[in-house]
Amino acid sequence: MRPKVLVAGAGIGGLAAALALQKRGFDVQVVERANELREVGAGVQLSANAVRPLYRLGLEQALLSIASEPAGKRFRLWNTGQTWKLFDFGAASLAQYGFPYFTLYRADLHRVLVDAVRAGHPDAIRLNAAVVDVAQDARGVRAVLADGSVLEADVLIGADGVHSVVREKAIAIDKPRFSGCVAWRGVIPAERLPERLREPLGVNWMGPGSHVVHYPLRRGELFNFVGILEKDVWPEESWTAQGTVEECVADFEGWHPDVHTLAASLQTPFLWALMVREPMHNWTDGRITLLGDAAHATLPFMSQGAAMAIEDGYVLARCLERHGDDPAHALQVYQALRIERTTRIVRGSADNLKRFHNPLLGTPGVAEDYVNREWNAERVNERYDWVFSYDVDAVPV
Ligand code: FAD
Repeated sequence: MRPKVLVAGAGIGGLAAALALQKRGFDVQVVERANELREVGAGVQLSANAVRPLYRLGLEQALLSIASEPAGKRFRLWNTGQTWKLFDFGAASLAQYGFPYFTLYRADLHRVLVDAVRAGHPDAIRLNAAVVDVAQDARGVRAVLADGSVLEADVLIGADGVHSVVREKAIAIDKPRFSGCVAWRGVIPAERLPERLREPLGVNWMGPGSHVVHYPLRRGELFNFVGILEKDVWPEESWTAQGTVEECVADFEGWHPDVHTLAASLQTPFLWALMVREPMHNWTDGRITLLGDAAHATLPFMSQGAAMAIEDGYVLARCLERHGDDPAHALQVYQALRIERTTRIVRGSADNLKRFHNPLLGTPGVAEDYVNREWNAERVNERYDWVFSYDVDAVPV
């Protein structure tokens, strides 16, 4: 039996789930609050554990045509620019994990997912369709949309992001909180950068209280820039605001000139408040469940939020296929499979904040010792191998 599935939210997680369900023969309707399909003008890194399910969903060629594949990742010290190797990707990711490590322009990844879901069914995504309330009984679920219409299905998946309405209405009345970190985000056209900053590498600059990440997008046409700072308060009502290049550069006063060159080359920088929630013990009620940021919003310091959303959707589709005659049980199996891993990511990302922004990085001499101790190959492997090696098809459902 194939339950009819309603997905709230056409972000990366909702679309990956919809595609995984379509591929297994489910009737899926995605409802999206926005009136057009779009993504943030920024980049996303996808490690092998996230690329694996996307390839399995038939997206290999589409991804290869839009992705960058950095050769590796480097660690640079905020003031001196001293460089350490963190990871090798490229052939090393293929050899170790069977799949590449990609960096993508989010809008490109989103478009690939939208096209694939619409190829599955042209009307699978309904826009201007904000879920405002949800209800369920033994026979099914109902979602009330902002225009008053009511949609019925057998299962509802809340993939509606960190400010999830499905979570609030069906699972828990709690609010995300400001993490104490803000992020400058934007892209840089490659031609604005000197040759030395156009290397096909991901770079993490780390310093006391702040860090900067940059990596290539669109096969090197663009570079992504993320600059994270600790702030006591977030003054804006909204959780994102357009800023200026000058403000962004000023926030990295005293940093290496390469960081200033990167920030000064940004197209349109936006400042984001990073929101977090405590990991939940339960994100499922009967025929309603959550995935992605709605279930386990995380600081982005392991670059795994979207990856977890993709894994969630794929594993959920497998659970519904296996236990389709009992959707509530299928959702419990899904949650049980996903909760420990996603909690570990949320906690690991919070721990990385302390490593990336460690005060010891501010003291010459001490900083080098700290990096050698905390970021040597053995420690990096301990912290990341379990993440990258996860196989969505191997977890027993
Ligand atoms: P979202 O992307 O938030 O999508 C939710 C969708 O639901 C949206 O389209 C929204 O409009 C819609 N919606 C909301 N409410 C409703 C409603 N009531 N009804 C209907 N629709 C609704 N992750 C990585 O894996 N790698 C990275 O490199 C990475 N870098 C990051 C860098 C930064 C600075 C940040 C902030 C995050 C980063 N992440 C990264 C995390 C990643 O962006 C998120 O985890 C991911 O986008 C979550 O996807 P989602 O589909 O769960 O939610």
